[in-house]
Amino acid sequence: MTYRNGILEAIGNTPLIKLKRASEETGCTILGKAEFMNPGQSVKDRAALFIIRDAMDKGLLKPGGTVVEGTAGNTGIGLTLVGNALGLKTVIVIPETQSDEKKDMLRLAGAQLIEVPAVPYRNENNYVKYSGRLAEELAKSEPNGAIWANQFDNVANRQGHIETTAQEIWRDTDGKVDGFICAVGTGGTLAGVSMGLKAHNPDVTIGIADPMGAALYNYYKHGELKSEGSSITEGIGQGRITANLEGATVDAAYQIPDAEALEVVFNLLSEEGLCLGGSSGVNVAGAVRLAKDLGPGHTIVTVLCDYGTRYQSRLFNPDFLREKGLPVPSWLAEPEPAAP
Ligand code: PMP
Repeated sequence: MTYRNGILEAIGNTPLIKLKRASEETGCTILGKAEFMNPGQSVKDRAALFIIRDAMDKGLLKPGGTVVEGTAGNTGIGLTLVGNALGLKTVIVIPETQSDEKKDMLRLAGAQLIEVPAVPYRNENNYVKYSGRLAEELAKSEPNGAIWANQFDNVANRQGHIETTAQEIWRDTDGKVDGFICAVGTGGTLAGVSMGLKAHNPDVTIGIADPMGAALYNYYKHGELKSEGSSITEGIGQGRITANLEGATVDAAYQIPDAEALEVVFNLLSEEGLCLGGSSGVNVAGAVRLAKDLGPGHTIVTVLCDYGTRYQSRLFNPDFLREKGLPVPSWLAEPEPAAP
């Protein structure tokens, strides 16, 4: 018999999927790592598992204990599912402005949601700071421990990608990978894969695909944290060098406007059957740009971060897209015929 012993063993070992249009357009082999096939339907399951395991190994958390995080999305879902499998409680502090789809998913998985007003980081009641304080308070009274996952600055996050994502990419490409590129939320994926692949071969080119409104394109290109514009993508777009990003080599930087990323998302769905969120569009658009710079014949890997249904009310909502001046896919543009 072959089976995974519980969902923890079903995290990772996702397949690399060859992306047809991107590969044909560039003469390269462009491969997407299918992270939406993780149990929580996103790349963040890996970080959730490594953060929780690290805290348990250090004796900070035992079954019955509590994991606290300020997050609006995939990390919260990953922490809650992994937490359920390990007998832990999860408290998620979420800005009120987040989509109902995400809140519903967190609630249905059993997380305790604390909704707070969406205020900037400098405000004491910002959701990230609030979650850190709450974890500190809970740790005083929880007999089985309470931790703050702290995904941005807890390097157990990138360690998960050094030990799993990077090794899987190296193994599945038979060491023939020439380039890797992805966007940054916490930086765990980019930094971890960069470190893991460069330990095998320092010549692998590592690129960042940055959405508008983020500051890292300018940082890696010109040494200055500076942002311009904005993006409707979620889960990515960073304004500072997180602890996870510190010390990671990034060789190339690309800035991807929403219209370019969304065209990729819609084409991947209608032509290749891949239903993905906006950050995957930024990543694949970045992989195409990197492929054009490296030239034909190279193998480039990127990340298909999460499943598209999580964005039904935004990315796949023609009214929302029109309001933002973004392209509407043809099959969503026509009103549905009335039932006979
Ligand atoms: N895409 C999506 C949809 C995400 O939720 C995240 C995580 N915030 C990322 C990409 C970026 O991953 P990382 O945090 O590893 O930089």
